[in-house]
Order: sequence, then structure tokens, then C-alpha cells
Amino acid sequence: MTAIVVLGSTHMDLVTRVARAPKPGETVTGRDFRTVPGGKGANQAIAAARAGGEVSMIGAVGSDGFGTLLRQTLAASGVDTDLLHTAAGPSGIAGVVVDAEGANSIVVIPGANGTVTSLGPGEEALIAGADSLLLQLELPLSAVLDGASAARRHGVRTILTPAPAQPLPPGLLAVTDLLVPNEHEAAALTGIADPHRAAEALLRQVPEVVITLGAAGSLHASRDSPPFAVPAPPVTAVDTTGAGDTFTGALAVALGEEKPIERALHWAAAAAALCVQRPGASTSMPYRPEIDNAS
Ligand code: ADP
Repeated sequence: MTAIVVLGSTHMDLVTRVARAPKPGETVTGRDFRTVPGGKGANQAIAAARAGGEVSMIGAVGSDGFGTLLRQTLAASGVDTDLLHTAAGPSGIAGVVVDAEGANSIVVIPGANGTVTSLGPGEEALIAGADSLLLQLELPLSAVLDGASAARRHGVRTILTPAPAQPLPPGLLAVTDLLVPNEHEAAALTGIADPHRAAEALLRQVPEVVITLGAAGSLHASRDSPPFAVPAPPVTAVDTTGAGDTFTGALAVALGEEKPIERALHWAAAAAALCVQRPGASTSMPYRPEIDNAS
């Protein structure tokens, strides 16, 4: 089995559905409220575990009930949470208001995620034994850089999702092997809207890039081979939340199994296409047999 470590965030998403979001000072009656375990780190960990990886998660949940639920959710998909800390205080949350048009307004409060500022005891050793380290930008950037540097020291592949888009700490891209932005993140990093040209620009900083393009699939570029596009399977999407995390988690598993890159990307696209056909984020992520059947 491919050993994968995810160094990343856990959030409880508090999702409120309303006809129209309230203006400042206004009260509206909503239609529906749900708590949905998430965070990009946890979502990538769940996606990779369901895709057949042996996954460990490094990060933190709070000492509240949400923390217990987040840990249980990861464990239920087979993610090892031995090095997922419980920090005194609240878990990270994302307050999400979705209006009738499907437009989101989101407030993220990092909570326990903010306590993860560097690697703790035993964490470098765990990373050293992995095939890939998956990173995103929802933890303090000092921890992301610390993790990526540790992986590089041990020759472990680092896969970075640069989300949410923000300026990167100097040196992070220098220890990134594979960068997986969506088209908006690629544009934010480079100032270039065209994904082909953005990928070219990013190759000056990282050896390999996959830019995801939603229903239009993805674009692979590397310093070693000509760029190529991978289509997304034509499906009816009902909820694209978590598509990128499903894609990246599955891609890490496929690369660990030494699937050739083009095959690995098709397999990851099949996983993401399954995710978007069902409502939810982590709950809609497919298990291995489904991905194998669909690809
Ligand atoms: P993110 O979720 O990070 O914004 P994207 O929207 O680019 O990322 O989606 C990631 C991947 O998920 C795409 O490259 C594609 O393979 C798949 N995907 C996303 N939306 C769809 C869709 N409507 N139909 C099929 N596949 C999709």
C-alpha cells in the first residue's frame, strides 16, 4: 500500500442555507443547517484513504465536540489519527452561508489549526517513511514549510495544493515536487489567466504542475515532457465541493503505485467525477473499487 502523510487542516463546516444572505444588521430565517466535517487537509486524507492509500494525518482538532467528530470521521475512512493532536480550545470551523443561487459566503476560524506552527516529535520520522506528503495552505505557513522541508530531506515527494490562494513563504516552492492549483489559484500565483501560460511560468519554480480546470479536466506540465491535457469524464455534477481534494488524494495514491502520470491523472479524474455526482464533500468521495470500475 502507498503510505501517504497529510499535513493539513481540519474544519467543521457549519453550513446554513438561506433564500438570500442577510445584510449587516439584518436577521433572516434560513432553510436548513448542517455540520459537515471538512478542512482541505482532512478532505485530502479521506480521499486518499478511500482511494486505497495508507494515510496518516498530522494536524490538530480542538478539545470540543467538533474535535471528537472530526477525529471519528477521519478514522471511519481509515485515516490514522495517532499524530492528530487535540489542542485545548475550539476546533477550526468554517461558517458557510449558501444562498438560493448557490453563492457561498464563508468565514473560517482556524481554531486548533492555528496551534500547528511546526512539526512535533515523531512527525519527521512519519514523513520520512511515506511515499508522498500532501500539503495545503490552511495551516500556519511555518508548519507547511517545515513539513515540506522535512519531506525533501528524506526524498519524499511533496504535493502542494496552494489553497486558499495567498502569497507563499519564500522557499516553499523550492521544496515542492508537484504543485496542484486550480485555475484560479494558478492565476493568483502567477498573475497569468491563461492556464497554459501560467503552467509554463510555474515550471520556473517547481518541476511539475497539474492545473485543475473543473469540468474541463486538467493540464499537466513538467520540465521533462511536453504538456498534455486530461479531460474530465462527462457527468452531471450536483455538488463540486471537494472535487479538487478528491482529485489530489487519488493522484497521490496512483503516483505511489507508480502508475504512469497520464494514467494516474485519468484515474484521479475518474475519482473526482464520482465525487461531483453526489452531494457533500468528504461523504461523497469514492472508494477504490468504484474508481477502478469508472476508469
Ligand atoms: P477545486 O475543487 O479545487 O476548485 P476543480 O474545480 O478544478 O478544483 O476540480 C478538480 C477536478 O475535479 C477537475 O480537474 C476534474 O477532474 C474534476 N471535476 C470538477 N468539476 C467537475 C465536473 N463538473 N465534472 C466532472 N469532473 C469535474
